Amino acid sequence: MKILVINSGSSSLKYQLFNYEEKTVIAKGLCERIGIPNSNFKHEDASGRDINEGRSFESHSDAVRTMIDTLLDPEAAILESLEDIAAVGHRIVHGGPYFSKPTVMTQSSKDAVRKCFPWSPLHNPANLTGVEVCEKLMPGIPQVGVFDTAFHQTMPPKAYMYGLPYRYYEEHNVRRYGFHGTSHAYVARRAAEMTKCGGDEHRLITCHLGNGSSFAAIKGGKCVDTSMGLTPLEGIMMGTRCGSIDPAIVTFIAKLEGDENKDVDYIMNNESGVRGVSGVSSDFRDLHAAASKGNERAKLALDMFCYQAVRIIGSYIAALGGVDSIVFTAGIGENDAALRKVVCDDLNFLGLKIDEEINASTHGKEVKISADDSSVEVFVIPTNEELSIAIQTVEVLGLA
Ligand code: AMP
Repeated sequence: MKILVINSGSSSLKYQLFNYEEKTVIAKGLCERIGIPNSNFKHEDASGRDINEGRSFESHSDAVRTMIDTLLDPEAAILESLEDIAAVGHRIVHGGPYFSKPTVMTQSSKDAVRKCFPWSPLHNPANLTGVEVCEKLMPGIPQVGVFDTAFHQTMPPKAYMYGLPYRYYEEHNVRRYGFHGTSHAYVARRAAEMTKCGGDEHRLITCHLGNGSSFAAIKGGKCVDTSMGLTPLEGIMMGTRCGSIDPAIVTFIAKLEGDENKDVDYIMNNESGVRGVSGVSSDFRDLHAAASKGNERAKLALDMFCYQAVRIIGSYIAALGGVDSIVFTAGIGENDAALRKVVCDDLNFLGLKIDEEINASTHGKEVKISADDSSVEVFVIPTNEELSIAIQTVEVLGLA
């Protein structure tokens, strides 16, 4: 069975075609700079094709058409007919209060995705465009929306409500939703399979640390709290996002900048985080390089990130009444052994110990990095959001 996964952004469209039984990727590609001059097409597949060339993509329709033509090229023999695709799974960032699980896209579910536009103005419209273009160009193939927020819908009200007048929740659905749910769900599922202490009582903290970073507290596979909020700005400081700050700072900066609408939003999303503090980069590799050459602000940014990580993990240990397992995933979580060591060493008081050799030599594989006598199991589990979307698509359609 072949499942196509699509991640449609405002000016890009990424896709992966899975052979579902083997969980292997048989083709993948990226249409970049849609609607912008110098658009580009990348594609690789099991036939050995490796395309990277300029193509004109005036719209998402052009991008999907190119993807389809490339997949159907008889010489590559990847797909004989579009009917060979059992379903298409689409990443959709914000499902608001409307989606707690993957959902087949119908008129009413698309209307609900549209209602979430205000909370994700950059992503949701682009995600929905991807769905609509595929509906048109691949008629008859089920289109499924898989939501970044859905996994967190099991949070209790005490975790998702803000201390604001209740009417904002009642009338405008202002509450914590959380993000990276597809990733948290995927690594939580893998951790439950890898741990010796699984089951309904399993207390797990997943740390998705990438350019955007979030944490989830998970009990028996269900999310009970997460660090991102109504938008992906809340929680730990990130590559360029400030994370949780005193809300009064927002109006203070707006006044400083002299214009209530001076893009405080932009400053908090794009000029803050480790980049804003260090003045060096949003990339942790650059921060380590600068810190090792004595750059104090790069060192401060790294210290702040690790401290905030420990603080959030600590609060989740309290929320869960203890912890059995911790997972690190995403670009930083999977690759930054030094950062993992600092965070784990600060949790030594729990009896948590890592095997330093295993931690230092882990690359791209699922590995337990805690020592045999550690009180908490610590795993590095590479995330695979596309495979997670494929699995959830198949499950919701009952195709497995
Ligand atoms: P993601 O958003 O999950 O793709 O993560 C991207 C981020 O991972 C980059 O911006 C880097 O900060 C970080 N990253 C990737 N590789 C490494 C590495 N080898 N060491 C430290 N950080 C890394």
